[in-house]
Amino acid sequence: MSRVSNLFNLQELDRTIAQAGQRILEIDALLEDDSAVQKARRAVQAVEGQLNDVRSEHSSAEHAVQSQRAKIKQNEAALYGGSITNPKELEDLQLERESLARYLETLEDRLLEAMMELDEAEMAFENADAKLDLIKVQSAAENADLVAEKEQLQKEIERRQSEREAVLGNISDEDRAAYEKLKERFDGVVIAEVREGNCTVCGVDLARSKLQEIQSGRELIRCSQCNRFLYAG
Ligand SMILES: [Zn+2]
Repeated sequence: MSRVSNLFNLQELDRTIAQAGQRILEIDALLEDDSAVQKARRAVQAVEGQLNDVRSEHSSAEHAVQSQRAKIKQNEAALYGGSITNPKELEDLQLERESLARYLETLEDRLLEAMMELDEAEMAFENADAKLDLIKVQSAAENADLVAEKEQLQKEIERRQSEREAVLGNISDEDRAAYEKLKERFDGVVIAEVREGNCTVCGVDLARSKLQEIQSGRELIRCSQCNRFLYAG
């Protein structure tokens, strides 16, 4: 293992650990965001509000029909009870009875309409409630996947960190300090691989003599263009 290959291994471990850490942050954000469930819950609340309105309309329509029927009964009791014999009064009662019966029809039509609206509102509520249940189940399943993925990533980070400790044992303080110093400046890529005579980060063509130096691995050689350490693999 040359100086640069140890640094390259360190870099690759650091990058893997950083990526895993980044993904864990994303997962945490996803786990916190249950916006789909909240949306479905708001939909249920809205439909429930409508259902309550329709229920109270239905119950007042029902009440109106009952009280109209009671009035008709009273009218009939007077009309047919025999206590009223005056023809004018009986005629008035007869007219009142007809008018009460006509209005009862109107009220019964309203009640029928209210019953249909109530059926619809109940169905809408049941649908929204079932949808909420489904979304809750889906969200829990998705969350289970994410939680499992996060656990895997945490294990991987632990594994890579112990590998990192081992690699650090082969790196001099001087090389480590150089690596750490450049890490931020080069966004984690301090050591550039060389392929087919080129620096894979900036693409510069490397002279044959420089390639030989890089391959020997005795010294840390920097790219003349991007200034990274070069690693021949
Ligand atoms: Zn370069």
